[in-house]
Amino acid sequence: MSEYSGSVDPRAEDSDSHGGLGCAEVIAEVWTLLDGECTPESRARLQQHLDACPGCLKHYGLEERIKALIASKCRGEKAPDALRERLRLEIRRTTIIRDMR
Ligand SMILES: [Zn+2]
Repeated sequence: MSEYSGSVDPRAEDSDSHGGLGCAEVIAEVWTLLDGECTPESRARLQQHLDACPGCLKHYGLEERIKALIASKCRGEKAPDALRERLRLEIRRTTIIRDMR
C-alpha cells in the first residue's frame, strides 16, 4: 500500500554510506546494542553515521528512541524495557535484516 516497502537493500544504500556504515548497517548495529553492551567502537560508528547522515533514523522514525538508547547504554545503564521493546518492534517493522532471527 505505501510506496515505501520497509525493506532495505544494503547495496542500494551503499552510495549513501558516507564512507562509514551504511544505513542498513546502522540499524543492524542498533539491534546489537539492544541486547549487547555499548562499546566505544559501536558508539563511535553510530555517532559518526548519525552526524554524516542526519536524516537516516528520522527516515525510520527511530531517531529519538535510538538516541535515548545510545545515551542510556553508553552511560552504563540498562535501557528501559519499554524502550527496548519499542525499538525491537519498530526495527522489525521498518527493516529487514536478513540474519537477525
Ligand atoms: Zn544513514
